[in-house]
Amino acid sequence: MKRYSAFAVAREAFRHHTGWERAWRSPEPKSHYDVIIIGAGGHGLATAYYLGKNHGIKNVAVLEKGWLGGGNTGRNTTIIRSNYLQDPSAAIYEKARSLYEDLSQDLNYNIMFSPRGVMMLAQTEHEIRGYQRTAHANTLQGVATEFISPKRVKELCPIIDISGPRYPVLGALWQPRGGTARHDAVAWGYARACSDMGMDIIQKCEVTAIKQEGGRVTGVETTKGAIGCNKMGIVVAGNSGQAAEMAGFRLPIESVPLQALVSEPIKPCMDVVVMANTVHGYLSQSDKGEMVIGGGTDGHNAYTQRGSFHHVEETVRALIETFPMISRLKMLRQWGGIVDITGDRSPILSTTPLDGCFINCGWGTGGFKAIPGSGFGMAQLMATGHSPLTEQFGLNRFREGRFIDESVAAGVAH
Ligand SMILES: Cc1cc2nc3c(=O)[nH]c(=O)nc-3n(C[C@H](O)[C@H](O)[C@H](O)COP(=O)(O)OP(=O)(O)OC[C@H]3O[C@@H](n4cnc5c(N)ncnc54)[C@H](O)[C@@H]3O)c2cc1C
Repeated sequence: MKRYSAFAVAREAFRHHTGWERAWRSPEPKSHYDVIIIGAGGHGLATAYYLGKNHGIKNVAVLEKGWLGGGNTGRNTTIIRSNYLQDPSAAIYEKARSLYEDLSQDLNYNIMFSPRGVMMLAQTEHEIRGYQRTAHANTLQGVATEFISPKRVKELCPIIDISGPRYPVLGALWQPRGGTARHDAVAWGYARACSDMGMDIIQKCEVTAIKQEGGRVTGVETTKGAIGCNKMGIVVAGNSGQAAEMAGFRLPIESVPLQALVSEPIKPCMDVVVMANTVHGYLSQSDKGEMVIGGGTDGHNAYTQRGSFHHVEETVRALIETFPMISRLKMLRQWGGIVDITGDRSPILSTTPLDGCFINCGWGTGGFKAIPGSGFGMAQLMATGHSPLTEQFGLNRFREGRFIDESVAAGVAH
């Protein structure tokens, strides 16, 4: 793989950009791999990347039914933060956030990480107490957050109307090194690095059956034929229930649509990310100038990557209370993804009842921020059978009633 650099850009400028290589190969599948990862979203690709980089396991195929990054990874609103309440969550989300800091250099691919700061508004007395509690927990966990005053909120984000009308801003949980990154670039950067290590990323290759012998996984049937493997990782987000059924077990998970929308581009007016749980919406401004808006999930299970229309209206109506200036914006695009939600709003990174088969799912509305940490931990789990990052997130926690309750941190979808 030729490295991207200022020199390479200059060289290609002189030869009319004829020397760029394809970022990743598109091979036909081999008959057998050491590891198959199902799902070329961020979590699947990051798992493959750290399997190769940290554990030297490179005979890997990542199978994707559509195009890589075409699931939730390419559909999210790109918020990155690690201000969760429980210790295991803070550990994996902070690991991810810290890996994001240098990911462009690590992958030699500009993922446009922008640690512009994330604030979660407190607009009720209850939220003040909740966020102060999280700030204290974060201090103990080594995650840099603080509870800030309404005056500081206004300084950081002048377009917020802190006086109300229904819900005045009473403070906020502020994480200065939270922010955003370009979602496609995260998938593309990992894919390029995986391909460079000799891994096969096979798109338009849907897994239709999972094969097993004597309680151990042996391979998959796909739309491109049968492929054998020694180990497998299921990393398919909204399709996790269906994949688990193919492997012969059930998951405590629901798949629901979550949608987002963007406005027409406007001049820079907001250089932080703001989430407003009480009115239930969140807002940031993209580098193109569009206001990126998200809200809550649909109230019913579904597999449509669209979402229902009344949610768009409810989300925008709610946000206009806190950001009156967006009332005159035209909305350009709206889309949806299928998010996989567990009862305790925490992910599952686990062995499964099928030997050699691992699962990484349940990131729900907030897994983009976790991609590097999740891939790091999942690769360690698959390679060695154990990872300190993932050990609390096993499937057995549902049987044992040992929940990692993050319903406050994941209260508004993002
Ligand atoms: C509208 C929206 C906004 C969001 N906003 C944020 C945010 O601001 N911050 C944040 O942290 N998170 C956010 N999220 C959540 C985040 O996008 C997801 O948690 C994360 O992208 C999940 O990544 P993944 O790799 O697990 O899944 P995906 O990216 O969905 O990848 C799974 C892949 O598996 C493939 N697949 C499925 N079944 C099969 C099969 N049988 N064979 C082969 N391939 C298969 C799919 O095609 C898909 O490409 C948002 C989600 C949505 C929908």
